[in-house]
Amino acid sequence: MGASNLLLKLSRRLWSEESDRAAFIDALVHPQPYPAAIVWTQPRPEQVPFAIAPPLPWQPAWVDRLAADQRPGRHALHQAGAYYCLDMASVFAAAVFSAIAIPVESVLDLCAAPGGKSLLARQAFHPDRLWCNEVVRKRVKILISNLKRCGATEALVFNLDPQAFAEQMPHSASVVIVDAPCSGQSLLAKGDQALGCFHPVTIKKNASRQKRILTSAAQTVAGGGYLAYMTCTFSSEENEQVAEWLLKKFPQFEAVEVPVLADYASPLASFPCYRLWPQSGLGAGGFTVLLRHRQEPLPPVDLSLLTAKAMPIYGDRPPPDSGTTGHPSL
Ligand code: SAM
Repeated sequence: MGASNLLLKLSRRLWSEESDRAAFIDALVHPQPYPAAIVWTQPRPEQVPFAIAPPLPWQPAWVDRLAADQRPGRHALHQAGAYYCLDMASVFAAAVFSAIAIPVESVLDLCAAPGGKSLLARQAFHPDRLWCNEVVRKRVKILISNLKRCGATEALVFNLDPQAFAEQMPHSASVVIVDAPCSGQSLLAKGDQALGCFHPVTIKKNASRQKRILTSAAQTVAGGGYLAYMTCTFSSEENEQVAEWLLKKFPQFEAVEVPVLADYASPLASFPCYRLWPQSGLGAGGFTVLLRHRQEPLPPVDLSLLTAKAMPIYGDRPPPDSGTTGHPSL
């Protein structure tokens, strides 16, 4: 079956109205440039050197949505680390952070490169500990470079399979972020390629990988903590169905309402979770859900020991008497 037939099939599963299906398909088949957003990682200057679009209800104060045709990546402030550029779909996904009670001690971003969600979480929570993990070695460099440029020098960077955190740092993070690798269907709305993104085999493979990552993530969340799961794709097999699977497998988690996203509630689930559609004109689209671990917080864990067991490849080293060998710094 060709890609267009698979897209048609997907649209029928997502929408009951013909006009909605047509708008969804049109947004993917006729890509449009979406305005950029910037996350301020240094204090926002009084005079912002860009044309700014009106803020959206789910946009935090440290994000500006730019008017069309602005090129923030080329400005000297970017090089100086004043902000990080991303798209509004990423800001949408991270809007679930607004429903997390502050203070937050520790954030673990399990799929972190190139660093957008880590930096959004850092601005939202100013956590005592920011752990950024990227399993694909060649993507670690850009993650470190972005964190450094934006002044997130307190972050520890890891290059581990998520399972290592579950095994060596169980129940240790107040917030775990899984911005999962996915079939990437929303990339089409920006004019990027996403080969095979509608194919059932691609979708099934991604859903299995997402469940694997989430199994580790769920075991790493501290009692009373949160798990934020997000993708940039539309198939419910990678979104609502994965979240539903998690809620069944780990009944200690519950899905949490995110008031600022109330207008974006997914019609494809019986629990709170949210979708941005490509035809909204706000961003290429995606899915996001916030899960809370119901259990009361456990006594604090010995974090020097945890760091020594799962070594960061960039950032502070464990104490010299910890008896472990470190990875070389980059
Ligand atoms: N969170 C990032 C941001 O906001 O800039 C984007 C993350 S991207 C959607 C997904 C990331 O997951 C990629 O960097 C990819 O290398 C990583 N990844 C791929 N396979 C993985 C796996 N099995 N476990 C964990 N992460 C994986």
